[in-house]
Amino acid sequence: MNTSDMKQMYCKNMGIDEKVYDFSEKILEGLQDRFAKIDKTAEYNQLKVLQAMQKNKVAEMHLTGSTGYGYNDEGRDTLEQIYADIFHTEAALVRPQIVCGTHALNVALAANLRPGDELLSPVGKPYDTMDEIIGIRPSKGSLAEYGISYRQVDLLPDGSFDYDNIAKAINEKTKLVTIQRSKGYAQRPTLSVARIGELIAFVKKIKPEVICMVDNCYGEFVELAEPSDVGADMVVGSLIKNPGGGLAPCGGYIAGTKECVEQAAYRLSSPGLGKEVGATLGINQSFYQGLFLAPTVVAGALKGAIFAANVYEKLGFKVIPNSTESRHDIIQSVELGTPEGLIAFCKGIQAAAPVDSYVTPEPWAMPGYDSDVIMAAGAFVQGSSIELSADGPLKAPYAAYFQGGLTWYHAKYGIMMSMQQMYEKGLLTIPEKL
Ligand SMILES: *Cc1c(COP(=O)(O)O)cnc(C)c1O
Repeated sequence: MNTSDMKQMYCKNMGIDEKVYDFSEKILEGLQDRFAKIDKTAEYNQLKVLQAMQKNKVAEMHLTGSTGYGYNDEGRDTLEQIYADIFHTEAALVRPQIVCGTHALNVALAANLRPGDELLSPVGKPYDTMDEIIGIRPSKGSLAEYGISYRQVDLLPDGSFDYDNIAKAINEKTKLVTIQRSKGYAQRPTLSVARIGELIAFVKKIKPEVICMVDNCYGEFVELAEPSDVGADMVVGSLIKNPGGGLAPCGGYIAGTKECVEQAAYRLSSPGLGKEVGATLGINQSFYQGLFLAPTVVAGALKGAIFAANVYEKLGFKVIPNSTESRHDIIQSVELGTPEGLIAFCKGIQAAAPVDSYVTPEPWAMPGYDSDVIMAAGAFVQGSSIELSADGPLKAPYAAYFQGGLTWYHAKYGIMMSMQQMYEKGLLTIPEKL
């Protein structure tokens, strides 16, 4: 195939202006070395997953599921051992009964803390939905209601750890330290696995028995190592993000020490029952196959994030992370500067979707937010953010947060469509020369 066939496809069939196409291709020429490195990481992680599957002798019978109580579900139990092997932990809990990432984090925390204990976040305020779990915002059933206190030490203005105050915050009550790897929707740097390792080493030197938990959401398979390789006692995440590979229709995981995971299992089901119960109802195949695809899917999402950072930075917008920074999660933010810009960006992502591409996203007053929010998602799985999705609050600096893309080609097209929408509305000017 020659380039003109490709250009025709984009420009004649897929609604992309020639200027947008040419600009995108020029940007991509400069990204080939970085993309090659991402492919190497994916290759390594693919083998890591494959090795764990082979070691555990995955067989056809593991792909079917149990019903009722779910006793002796070998597919479920084997998958948990595979997760434990991939994360290099003693055990793992991988369940469709874990509703989402927030639920997995709640189970991990509530299971491993007792009244009188204290929880510490040494990396600033955690993800929004954690506010109610912890009781930062009063909430029914929060840890605060059970007499579990909370302390927080913010990152220093340059993004580094405030070691002095972390040391002061650790006391005789401190039982668990929660470390969020991804910046989520905050304006702080995402933490590399190496940095997480340094922080854990510091904490453990002061108090060796403290449990170090990492909120691993959006971080899985982005690097060669995971936080559990550098001392985390527990890593927690969602299966409708990275490790589900886009195929898991729901679920979450907790991997960690035998003790931490057992506690979590007793909390998730019931004291006395623990890991022994929990029917998988035919979901196993999607969990296995999604995990198998996850390293490649994450690579595609990462390429999309880097592509977006590079095009939008060249177009004069502020992007976080910037065009050259190293990546430790799959989230990209682009500050569009105006409500029209944010809306056009999201409309482009929506118009590029495989599902609901004909739908027009509109800003709405979402509960829990102090301004209208616009969201674009045309996903096979509701709310899945390993699929290409974007959202942002309608307030300055009008930042779109976007992530995912089950394939690099779809992520690329989505970003081109976002540019196209903005271009048509006169909200950006494409430079003649780079
Ligand atoms: C997505 C996410 C969560 C959990 O969110 P859910 O929507 O409940 O899955 C928690 N922490 C971080 C950093 C996240 O990105």
